Amino acid sequence: MFGSQKHCHVCGMDVKKETGIKRFGKYFCSNEDAQKYAEMQMARSKEDSGRGGGCCC
Ligand SMILES: [Zn+2]
Repeated sequence: MFGSQKHCHVCGMDVKKETGIKRFGKYFCSNEDAQKYAEMQMARSKEDSGRGGGCCC
């Protein structure tokens, strides 16, 4: 037990340090899942700012 085992943030699969992808401070099992996560984040922030209209003050 090294306590350094990471899990894919999207599918929960074990991620090895050598083969895992680290993006946005999270680990992913593959580029695909990293991409998926990025899209999820983008969709979320789009939803947030979509309603705001763009006024900042
Ligand atoms: Zn994954």
